Amino acid sequence: MKKRIYRGYQAGNANPKRKNLLLRIMLVTLLSMLMGIGGLLFLSYNQKEVADNYSNSIDCNYSNVKYINTVSRSLYRHQALIYQYMSAAAEGKKREEIREITDSLEAVIEDSLEKLNESVMETAYEPYYHSIYSGYKSYLKNIGYVFYFSDKGDTATAGYYMETALQSYIEKVNQSVEELSTMIAEDMDAAEQLMSRRINFARQSSVLFIILLAAFSLITMIYCSRIFDSLVNKDALTQVDNYEKLQKDSTRLIKHGRWEEYVGVSCNIKDFNYFNQQLGDKTGDMVLIRYAASIAGFLQKGEKIARNGGDNFILLVRQERIPELLAYLQNMEISVDTPEGMKKLTIYSRCGLYQIREQDSLREVVNACCLALADTRMNGAPDHVWYDRAMHDRMVERKEILVQCRKALQEREFVVYYQPKVNIAVDTLCGAEALVRWNRDGQVVGPGQFVPVLEEEGYITELDFYVFEQVCRDIRNWLERGIRPVRISSNFSKLHLRDQAFAAKVLEIVRRYQIDSRYLEIELTESSGYEDFKALVAFVDEMGRHGIYTSIDDFGTGYSSLSLLKNLNVNVVKLDKSFIEDIENADEAHEKMVENVVRMINDLHREVICEGVENRIQADFLRTVNCQQVQGYLYDRPLPHEVFESRLKHPVYGG
Ligand code: C2E
Ligand code: MG
Ligand code: MG
Repeated sequence: MKKRIYRGYQAGNANPKRKNLLLRIMLVTLLSMLMGIGGLLFLSYNQKEVADNYSNSIDCNYSNVKYINTVSRSLYRHQALIYQYMSAAAEGKKREEIREITDSLEAVIEDSLEKLNESVMETAYEPYYHSIYSGYKSYLKNIGYVFYFSDKGDTATAGYYMETALQSYIEKVNQSVEELSTMIAEDMDAAEQLMSRRINFARQSSVLFIILLAAFSLITMIYCSRIFDSLVNKDALTQVDNYEKLQKDSTRLIKHGRWEEYVGVSCNIKDFNYFNQQLGDKTGDMVLIRYAASIAGFLQKGEKIARNGGDNFILLVRQERIPELLAYLQNMEISVDTPEGMKKLTIYSRCGLYQIREQDSLREVVNACCLALADTRMNGAPDHVWYDRAMHDRMVERKEILVQCRKALQEREFVVYYQPKVNIAVDTLCGAEALVRWNRDGQVVGPGQFVPVLEEEGYITELDFYVFEQVCRDIRNWLERGIRPVRISSNFSKLHLRDQAFAAKVLEIVRRYQIDSRYLEIELTESSGYEDFKALVAFVDEMGRHGIYTSIDDFGTGYSSLSLLKNLNVNVVKLDKSFIEDIENADEAHEKMVENVVRMINDLHREVICEGVENRIQADFLRTVNCQQVQGYLYDRPLPHEVFESRLKHPVYGG
């Protein structure tokens, strides 16, 4: 399976900023929903309350008016009957009838008064009720006298009481009835006005609410569209455009015929891993944010920047501004907040450039400038490289190699060569390194042709295990045939360190072929990253626990340093051939340096072996500085299996 190669810290998709945005969208939506529901509830409650209050007060006053009217009507009738009663003094039968009617009228009045009493109790109308009631009672009392004297035939006294009842008490009742009616009428007016005010208020607040809701929805829409824009068009970490947005912009530029005015630039931060590993991922993120912002600040209207994963950015910059851009990118100062406070960092960039042509698609532009960028990583290459056609051809060739290598792995076209290691104190074979070769149509192809490609594409791990298994198979075969093997070292790419099961896989093969661990050694190169280094330490320790030797290959190149040996329990240090390459012309200082390196490794109780020994001068020098093991063409080139087997049988040199 293809493994992704680590190319700098990749900001994860589950970026906290993106989560924040989503949270904000949810919050805004929730808020507008709550506001809508709250507003509607408030309005409907308000309307209902106003209507209920109004109808209650109308109902109540309507009844009051009805009672008063009944009282007033019945009283008029009552008075009229009293007149009749008096004038009909002679007609006994008629009087009886009138008394019956007045009794029933009194009952009606009593009943209405009682109902009125209930209705106005503890209200502002109550005093009027009492006044009506007491007036009415006094009236009745006097009317009682009217009946009495009238029945006795004393019309004069009856007339007197009649008058008294009518003048003082009925007037009092009528006045109170009138006042109460007026007051009720006024109150009903007031209630009506209040009602219409309330309705107006409710109407106005509805309009206001709708306006507010519309404004809020508009703001929400603008806000959401910004968030949406940020989610869809912006890179979550750096907030510069993402590739999709660049795609849209490029389509526009092509449409307006302005495409070829631009140069495609793919740039990234030199040694970005260093920031992540030395200052932490958070600071690494901050570096990316500031770097992107700084470039965005440099760009002019119409020029573009988009993040292309990790620390890679794609720029579209006008041709005439390229020299200015390169000067700007050459060294850029940015400030970042680190746990130890603000830090000023100098950022160096690499960039690949491509002059856009009318017929190019954005994908082609990006591919071309990324290919040019890849070339800046080659030894001795400048920090900015313009694309040329040869790069494309090389890329095609690499892809071809990759396809063929994968097929070759399946068809077992890879063979293992063994390069002897020699103890120069006694000129005897003391070990060997397994080196892969590709038997391609009868031609032996060296690893330089394919190992870097496989490493770049992540397929090297398969090949390493293929070689290691072949080594174990060969050792088992020699043992079974009574040939005494030597310790054989196999190369493992540092990509394995990302595989948690690396050690387990190695041990499984060792067990399967039942190889004594003293015949095995694993060569690893030093790695730059801290995480890798931790994994390296763990792997070396695990191998140590099983008695399998480990070695640091190509020591003295790349990132290796002596201090690393303090924390890394490798058994062997393999000095790179560059230490002795030019030893015959080297000055004393260089010789001293090699001598001290060897001494220090010996003092740390590690074995030391020097690679690439091609002549006697180098071998003699190494002998004098106490480096006893060597590997190189002076003794043997990497040998095919059978040739090496005869070496195993005759392990002494020079004899
Ligand atoms: P390396 O592991 O440093 O292997 C030593 C390289 O130096 C070998 O090159 C060897 O042929 C070469 N060499 C030995 N003596 C001399 C000498 O006296 N002079 C000069 N100029 N060179 C000498 P080779 O076989 O071409 O391998 C190149 C590199 O390919 C290896 O460097 C190793 O890094 C890689 N490689 C080889 N096989 C494997 C493998 O199975 N897995 C992995 N991951 N890498 C491998
Ligand atoms: Mg090696
Ligand atoms: Mg080496």
